[in-house]
Amino acid sequence: MNIGVLALQGSVAEHLKMIKSVNKKINAVPVKTIDELASVDGLIIPGGESTTLRKLMDDFDLFTPVRERIVAGMPVWGTCAGLILLANRVEGELPYFSLLDAEVKRNAYGRQIDSFVTEGDFDGMYINMVFIRAPQITRVGDGVEVLAEYDGKPVAVRQGNILATAFHPEMTKDNRVHKYFIGMADSKE
Ligand code: GLN
Repeated sequence: MNIGVLALQGSVAEHLKMIKSVNKKINAVPVKTIDELASVDGLIIPGGESTTLRKLMDDFDLFTPVRERIVAGMPVWGTCAGLILLANRVEGELPYFSLLDAEVKRNAYGRQIDSFVTEGDFDGMYINMVFIRAPQITRVGDGVEVLAEYDGKPVAVRQGNILATAFHPEMTKDNRVHKYFIGMADSKE
């Protein structure tokens, strides 16, 4: 199985390392081209800066091919900036992929100095959650399952083949959320 990480900007190396730590037989593939995209069974859109990621994806002609793969059922996981790109409403901005029925507010958990680590339940697993200038999920649609909450608000959600987290599991030593995502891709095969 090949799991891709969109490799234009952001926490790419950390995600690739985590994927390999789950199972050495899984290929962790940096994705920058349409051919690389075609080779993967699941894609992680990493954290970074969503404005930059939008621009780079447009420049690399990846918007339509990535969107089409997601619509066709490819498992996708957006962390932080990746969540912003998947949401169908972004406060004060136009949405990008507009595939996840959720509304987000960018940088709502504070500025860089306010980045923080907390812990909580993710689908029955107790994990550390690293927030870095994270977006807040301010509304989710009926078809969206909430997998984790912080301060009474969803911070990890799933809608079918789409997983999104406001926090960064790749910044911890715990690979269980990566394992969860790989499980989504595995059950597609
Ligand atoms: N603040 C970034 C944005 O709005 C997201 C931060 C992150 O991905 N760590 O795009």
